[in-house]
Amino acid sequence: MTESNTSATDVDAVIVGAGFAGMYELVRMRRAGFSAVVLEAAHDVGGTWYWNRYPGARCDILSVDYSYSWDPELQQEWTWSERYAAQPEILRYAQFVADKHDLRRDMRFDTRVVSAAWNDDTSRWTIRTDNGDDITCQHYVMATGCLSMPKVPDLEGTDRFLGEVYFTSTWPHDGVDFTGKRVAVIGTGSSAIQSIPLIAAEAAQLTVFQRTPNFSIPARNGPISDERMAAFRADPDAYRAEARLSAAGVPRDTPMEGALMVADEERLARYEAMWEASELLGVTGTFNDTLANAESNETLRNFIHDKIRATVNDPEVAEALCPTNHYVGTKRACLDTNYYETYNRPNVRLVDLRKDPIETVTETGLNTAGESFEFDAIVFATGFDAMTGAIVGVDITGRNGLTLKEKWEHGPVTYLGLMTAGFPNLYMITGPGSPSVLSNMMVSIEQHVDWIADAMIHLRDQGHESIEPTELAETKWVEHSNDFADLTLMPTANSWYMGVNVPGKPQVFLPYPGGVGRYRLTCDEAVERGYLGFALDGPNGRTVNDGIIRPLAPDVQVMLETMAEMGLPPLETMGVEGARAFMEMAGAAMPPGPEVGEIADGKLPGGDGTPLEYRLYRPATAGPHPIVAYYHGGGWVLGSATSDDPLCRYLCVNSNSIIVSVNYRHAPEARFPAAADDGLAAATWIADHADNLGGIPGRLAVAGWSAGANVAAVTAQQAKLAGGPAISGQVLLCPVTDGTTDRASHADNADGYGLTMGVMNWFWDQYCDPTDRADPKASPLLADDLTDLPPALVITCEFDPLRDEGDAYADALGEAGVSVEHVQCPGQTHTAIPAVDALVTSEYARKAMADALRSFSDVHADT
Ligand SMILES: Cc1cc2nc3c(=O)[nH]c(=O)nc-3n(C[C@H](O)[C@H](O)[C@H](O)COP(=O)(O)OP(=O)(O)OC[C@H]3O[C@@H](n4cnc5c(N)ncnc54)[C@H](O)[C@@H]3O)c2cc1C
Repeated sequence: MTESNTSATDVDAVIVGAGFAGMYELVRMRRAGFSAVVLEAAHDVGGTWYWNRYPGARCDILSVDYSYSWDPELQQEWTWSERYAAQPEILRYAQFVADKHDLRRDMRFDTRVVSAAWNDDTSRWTIRTDNGDDITCQHYVMATGCLSMPKVPDLEGTDRFLGEVYFTSTWPHDGVDFTGKRVAVIGTGSSAIQSIPLIAAEAAQLTVFQRTPNFSIPARNGPISDERMAAFRADPDAYRAEARLSAAGVPRDTPMEGALMVADEERLARYEAMWEASELLGVTGTFNDTLANAESNETLRNFIHDKIRATVNDPEVAEALCPTNHYVGTKRACLDTNYYETYNRPNVRLVDLRKDPIETVTETGLNTAGESFEFDAIVFATGFDAMTGAIVGVDITGRNGLTLKEKWEHGPVTYLGLMTAGFPNLYMITGPGSPSVLSNMMVSIEQHVDWIADAMIHLRDQGHESIEPTELAETKWVEHSNDFADLTLMPTANSWYMGVNVPGKPQVFLPYPGGVGRYRLTCDEAVERGYLGFALDGPNGRTVNDGIIRPLAPDVQVMLETMAEMGLPPLETMGVEGARAFMEMAGAAMPPGPEVGEIADGKLPGGDGTPLEYRLYRPATAGPHPIVAYYHGGGWVLGSATSDDPLCRYLCVNSNSIIVSVNYRHAPEARFPAAADDGLAAATWIADHADNLGGIPGRLAVAGWSAGANVAAVTAQQAKLAGGPAISGQVLLCPVTDGTTDRASHADNADGYGLTMGVMNWFWDQYCDPTDRADPKASPLLADDLTDLPPALVITCEFDPLRDEGDAYADALGEAGVSVEHVQCPGQTHTAIPAVDALVTSEYARKAMADALRSFSDVHADT
């Protein structure tokens, strides 16, 4: 007989919780040769599925997906009876696994952990249970569940009621018989939606008290489809691998289109197919912008509203059941069996608490503002103190006496949702800052358990005693996660994702919204980069590998990932014509930018008299307007008067200026100094024709991006030297300013951020002989005299090879006494700022450009 750790007072790892997370954690501890004990408040394994025994409780992810993958044998020997297994079957599954792997041998049940304290001298935790026992351990794993701390109902007089009281989250094990009873259900979240139809079928009367309606789609439960089972059975490993790298932990095709990109009939047909398919992830997975675009989401919201109206007979009840205060998917949607139909039963009544709020619970029922109700039983389906409740439910004290409650006073701070600084060797499974509740939790649980077990093995192998994140790493992770959330509609909902359901809880978006696959790769990368963002301590001292795992703005990151997935050859290998065609195609795929008042195409003379095409963008407001000569990006080789169309439209509308985008001559056909000469010639012609163009004479600014910003900067310098035209200001976005390419950013950002040094060097070679690159008309930074130049806005991006030369130009202008606004954009790349309506996080930089153009023209400052 193998020994048990249940009475040990010192172990390698204490695991709190015997749900699916704690069970697998124990398996991994044993496999790695660590001594471990599981402490569990319940009387047996199962966690969620031990406690939540209310009628109708079942999973909302297909059972074939919501099951362990770590035991290949188990995958073959266990067959789920339904698409969405009910609680008893899921609990039996947990018990089956516990039996099969003899897990209970190292589990202490009916044992609640009340406190945990880190001892810096011994580098160990002391875990105290409600029995008064202390257990010391090196590693302390919180497998305490995201939805395991029931929320206390915030109703006045809850204790007063003398009838039966039930909570869906701690349902009696021998069931409840509601036959002939008058029952109240308080809440209309997932548990309520599952249980209401069954309670209604049994009770004499059921009154549902609803504060906020939720979206629900029919589960259409039944046997798992042969097709799905075949996909799984054919190659379980491949199936699971796909799930692990998917968006939410279930293999699914990624939709390529937004909801507004297809015709109305097509959209409706796809929603109908989703409704029939009855899978939770399909609800927001029909189109790619449901969770990001309010207008797109509205189409889905209307579709579900129509379904509710078509099902519920009483129009007033139907309206009350239609969620209007949040977008679909910003709260976890529900799967139901006959939920909406239940409101057609004569014994069921819905009370809309938004119209008639509960005032107090009484001895015999409850009073709303307008009515008194009498009940035999009240069922509270009031949800959970999600994600953080069970963690801070234990008094945890880390280094220097800091408690976790204090540290998280304004919201949870974690690195990767796994650990938090100041609390060494404290691990959280599916903690805040990880995908957790936004995913198929089984996949997320397994990933965390594996990561944690591997970290412990690493410590042991390397002779370290403890691991904890650095403050920089976790601060930036929280920021990154929030930035991701802000790209979605998620934070707009008053949901438990935001902690809004618990009075006094700080309101921050708790789970990581970047997706299961992306998140997994991030965690793996932290390890591959030598535990980036962690400090490891041991007898040989402290090793700190400080850093930021995801420094890019999230939408920029996603765009780069998408481009990387395309596996395109480097631009410089496409040849000039190939590169031009590619850029044109890429440009056509971008959002078009805002409508302007008028667009007019024309021609103006270039530096050598060659006619150059231009496109003029005129604001819809009454003129005359200040004018901006705009020079497009493209390394002097690519692009045209229309290639920066979205940005030109944006600047036109937001600066209330006429933008004249000039198609200066390109290399290699016209090499240096053709582009520079055309820049000045175009500005001169525009200034001379300001009246005809509808502009204000004497109000000409120059602007450009990349090589175009080089042309703009050179134009400002050449205009000064030539004594005209007068330039009121210059807006230089990621400018090329120096033909030397040996600055830190050239090396650090040489590859992987859109513009590469490979292509930049190719651009230089096409444009300019090495001997000419020191000429200020090629390298404006190298001009002898930068005084008396027009005021400038210089924008540089952190992950741009050209960052440092742009920074140097801003500094040099400032030192020469030029009025300079220098905007440095953290997390942005060379190509990010012109991506109007595609990249949200760079909007402030575009706005800075428009504001600068406005400020150059005091005449229009008030328009
Ligand atoms: C009704 C319901 C339905 C759900 N359906 C799905 C679904 O379909 N798909 C999905 O992906 N997820 C679902 N979830 C989420 C579900 O919680 C997870 O899928 C998963 O079961 C969590 O496992 P866990 O081991 O992390 O936590 P849990 O199962 O919550 O287990 C945590 C355990 O820790 C114990 N514990 C907590 N604090 C202490 C302490 N201080 N001392 C001792 N013991 C403690 C608890 O008693 C509990 O047993 C559902 C949740 C609920 C409530």
